[in-house]
Amino acid sequence: MNYLSTLQGMSLEQIQAVIEIMQMSSDAYMFILDLTADTYMMAEKATKRFPFPATVIENCTDTFKDIVYPSDYDMLAAELEKCRSGEKDGHAMEYRWLDRMNRVVWISCKGTVVTGAEGHRLLIGAVSEMGARAKADNITGLRREARFRLNMESALRDNPASVRYLMRIGIDNFKEINEKEGVEAGDEVLRELADCIIKTVDEGVDIYRLVADEFMIVDSGTGGGKEPRAIYRQIQETIAAMAENKEYSRFYTVSGGVLEEDFSGRTVEELMRFTEFALNEAKRNGRNQMMVFDRAAYDIYLKRLDIRKSLRQDVSHDFRGFEVYYQPIVSAADYKLIGAEALLRWKNEKYGSVSPAVFVPILEESGLIIPVGQHVLWEAAKTCKKWKQYVPGFHINVNLSYVQLYKSDLMRDVERCIQEVGIEPESLVLELTESGYIETSDRIKELFRDLKSRKIDLALDDFGTGYSNMRYLKEIDAKTVKIDRSFVVQALRNEYDYNIISHIIDMVHSLGSVVCMEGIEEKEELSKMMATKPDMIQGYYFGKPAPAGQFEKEFLQLTDSP
Ligand code: C2E
Ligand code: MG
Ligand code: MG
Repeated sequence: MNYLSTLQGMSLEQIQAVIEIMQMSSDAYMFILDLTADTYMMAEKATKRFPFPATVIENCTDTFKDIVYPSDYDMLAAELEKCRSGEKDGHAMEYRWLDRMNRVVWISCKGTVVTGAEGHRLLIGAVSEMGARAKADNITGLRREARFRLNMESALRDNPASVRYLMRIGIDNFKEINEKEGVEAGDEVLRELADCIIKTVDEGVDIYRLVADEFMIVDSGTGGGKEPRAIYRQIQETIAAMAENKEYSRFYTVSGGVLEEDFSGRTVEELMRFTEFALNEAKRNGRNQMMVFDRAAYDIYLKRLDIRKSLRQDVSHDFRGFEVYYQPIVSAADYKLIGAEALLRWKNEKYGSVSPAVFVPILEESGLIIPVGQHVLWEAAKTCKKWKQYVPGFHINVNLSYVQLYKSDLMRDVERCIQEVGIEPESLVLELTESGYIETSDRIKELFRDLKSRKIDLALDDFGTGYSNMRYLKEIDAKTVKIDRSFVVQALRNEYDYNIISHIIDMVHSLGSVVCMEGIEEKEELSKMMATKPDMIQGYYFGKPAPAGQFEKEFLQLTDSP
């Protein structure tokens, strides 16, 4: 290259003069950095604005430490090392300097590496101040997450008390818009929402575009004091009005997660996590709403994550800590033992005994209920086979999760279990809760038909806690309806509910199914509820859930042993 040979023949003063001449026609600060000698030559104008001790600096790496914003220094040093070693031949970076008043200035630095005299690697380029022209997202024109992180880092370090709130906004059905209407429509929505946010927030409030469909609004104390809830509501209203204007040709809603607290000692990572959590809570809660970050709810969430981890470890260690308990089910005619419900227990070193009400939903959301459910099924089937020797006609009830129904090959698992363990299908009753029931796809209907044709009965569990809808009974084609304890307790307290239960039982009977009444604890409860004519009873009065060994001792000796 021409300038290279020119440069080689020039003295330091001559090069400096060239820099100053070029500088006259540009706002940028020209520089030459000798990476090999660690020497820096800078236009004089820059030394007035930034704390450079002179226009030519030896051991410039040290000086850079005073000029480059501390958290950007490592990034720059790594980049320069790449230029020095030959890994890179060009340099283009946006980062921060500190001016003579110690204020942050965003700069854009661009340069080319050339090899000069004696093989020295020289980076020749220019630094320009970016000012308000911060790096923008090319769809919305907003700054991106990287800038959010850098700005928040300084705000948290320099003046955390001034930060008023952060609000993370997410489009509720963005994926759907992209999938159904195309990426361009998605971009249009992003632009529309960005404009709407810009118009809504006060002057001085920062807006960033994060990943995909999320925006972050930050009031670092420079805004006009509008409350986040008011901002969210206004955004929501503007979007609704826009949809109306367009006659609902496109409709979307947004959710918001707000973090409003004492920001001292917080890290950017935490801000990201907390706002993400609040936004997700808003979405989980039904979308189209704003939620404020709730520390207690977050701690519960973290605990659930940790429990999930422990559950996963225990499952992979051959179901360590899991045990199947059995609770007797007796005939209402003579109170004789006719079966048992298999109820899962989990004990963990860290958490002790955890209630199924806590760990079953975690198993479900993680998918672990599939292997665990299989484990319960096999254990229960083996136990049933053994106990049938004592009580002919004994049946075992196993709870099924809808996750098993929708996401695993249940029929295959059940058939294999029945065959390999060697029990009659009639001995197995699969319990499905009323509350978890969503919709019956053709596949599920077929599954119900298959189970029926293989003589495996279904029970509708928790009846009375959901909609108590007889339609489920028909669709599931349940042989048994299990009336939940909470319903029984209500019936014991007031006549109205008592009459409802009584009528429900009549109705179930008229449909050809039977009723198991759950949760009978006392003798009086039993005598009162017996008048409603249930067919089976399950409750503490007859026996609490117990490990297999204890069940055998307590309940099987009472029956006519072979
Ligand atoms: P569920 O299937 O309705 O089980 C009956 C629950 O009522 C059991 O609670 C049982 O201990 C309790 N119970 C029985 N009689 C009485 C009584 O007289 N008084 C009172 N207060 N409670 C009584 P548990 O064992 O805590 O199980 C809770 C739920 O966890 C179960 O409700 C079931 O939905 C679920 N679950 C348990 N094991 C499994 C399993 O292996 N798989 C799945 N998917 N869910 C399970
Ligand atoms: Mg049950
Ligand atoms: Mg139940």
